[in-house]
Amino acid sequence: MTQEYTRAYWENLLAGLKPEGRHFIDGAHRPSASGATFTRTRPMDGKPGAELARGGGADVDAAVAAARAVFESGIWRKKEPREKKKNMLKWADLIRQHGEELAMLETLDVGKPIMASLNVDVRLAADGIQYYGEMIDKLYDEIAPTGPNARALVRKVPLGVVGAITPWNYPLIIDAWKLGPAIAAGNSVVLKPAEQSSLSAIKLAELAIEAGLPAGVFNVVTGYGEEAGKPLALHMDVDMIAFTGSTEVGKLIMGYAAQSNVKRVALELGGKSPLVVFEDADLDAAASAAAWGCFYNSGETCHASTRLIVQRSVQEALIEKIQAVTRREITLGHPLDPSAQIGALIEEDHMKKVLSMIAAGEKEGGRRVFGAERVMDETGGYYVSPGVFVDVTNDMKLARQEVFGPVLAAIPFETEEEALRIANDTVYGLAGAVFTRDMDRAHRFSEAIHAGTVWINTYDMSSFATPFGGFKQSGFGRDRSAHAIDKYCDYKTIWQQFGSA
Ligand code: NAD
Repeated sequence: MTQEYTRAYWENLLAGLKPEGRHFIDGAHRPSASGATFTRTRPMDGKPGAELARGGGADVDAAVAAARAVFESGIWRKKEPREKKKNMLKWADLIRQHGEELAMLETLDVGKPIMASLNVDVRLAADGIQYYGEMIDKLYDEIAPTGPNARALVRKVPLGVVGAITPWNYPLIIDAWKLGPAIAAGNSVVLKPAEQSSLSAIKLAELAIEAGLPAGVFNVVTGYGEEAGKPLALHMDVDMIAFTGSTEVGKLIMGYAAQSNVKRVALELGGKSPLVVFEDADLDAAASAAAWGCFYNSGETCHASTRLIVQRSVQEALIEKIQAVTRREITLGHPLDPSAQIGALIEEDHMKKVLSMIAAGEKEGGRRVFGAERVMDETGGYYVSPGVFVDVTNDMKLARQEVFGPVLAAIPFETEEEALRIANDTVYGLAGAVFTRDMDRAHRFSEAIHAGTVWINTYDMSSFATPFGGFKQSGFGRDRSAHAIDKYCDYKTIWQQFGSA
């Protein structure tokens, strides 16, 4: 029988929940070496949430030592591939079985609607672990073309200890994007989740042990970026940092790698993605994509379609349709209400930043057509309604900086050449889209947008089979797909000579 989800059902589940907030190191929960903790504030109502261990250098050292010891022991990396696969598949199943609890932890931390946490975030985290689990016994190494008297094996070997540092907007999904390929390749991982969203990571680590992954293969150190993330990125015994977060912190991570042991880095950073609509486009499809592409997850999405670059002749009609889609489909509500499509922003300071960007947009000459204001303040939570600005030019703050809130900035154009120039006039290059019925133009334009992913007449289609990541200051390295495995491996060449030819 399928569960019927009501607000009361979720309230009841929340009342019985006691989230674990300690680190997870070498297979067990541990408080910080210093004994320090911090309290997370719930975005849904501004009330105190979970108590978390405030990690520092000593906790990072302990986690890295555990990760290194299990890596050197070989009990995971040298395990029979089909047995490793079974562990990963069991882990994915356990994530599904604990889906409601994981969804609640995610919603408590992030303020996103519980049904989105359950149906999108938990589902995709389980699918991600499964995808890489299934790959484990299907990976081959290479034999290089050599002369007849020699053999050269090109082996793909795990790096060792991977440090993962992740953001708060899609914690479960982004953790799985890193854990899946890194662990499938045979590495051990120390994950430092964002200080706003650690609960689901701790639960994932508990479930990994239950699935049979050896202690130390997956460790979690909670805490602040400067206190726990920085020592991880500077650590001399960490071989790689897989980072997702802001471009600003991504640059620091590159510096830490250079200052320490030249560890590898992979960076998934910010975005300011263009969605370009030509006058011959299906405007209903474009309106739906523009609204959902920008407002889903309250705009707290790295590849959100925040710049709507629209041919002037259809701007008015398109904005009307976007407003209609938003009113009809994108219900803002309390995150535990199953009908809510979008919920709260991550924290009070972030909401203030979003509101100040909205104010700056008006000051710079943008015109607010609807929404983009604080709502539901009586709940104590941090809610901003989805809204659209027109009369934006590409040099305004709203067009250049990440707002990371539900604010769409419409920029008009006249010619294809102008549209392309505006689309590419950004330091970012994460994603983009083009809407037109002219397929020659669609292909020409999609090739010319400098971004890691470009959609034609749609937005945000994705699959584990496709790589995801950025060009320019949106970073480098790719999550998802078989290519993500390469990121967590090095090539090792082994030569052998056989007598004389
Ligand atoms: P952030 O850069 O502030 O923090 C990300 C992580 O880095 C957190 O765990 C944080 O604690 C840690 N950190 C902060 N300072 C650090 C330091 N000095 N040393 C080491 N670690 C440190 O980002 P955020 O606010 O959590 O997330 C939002 C950002 O993430 C946006 O810019 C968004 O575009 C980006 N993002 C990118 C992708 C992608 O795939 N490209 C996906 C999601 C989010």
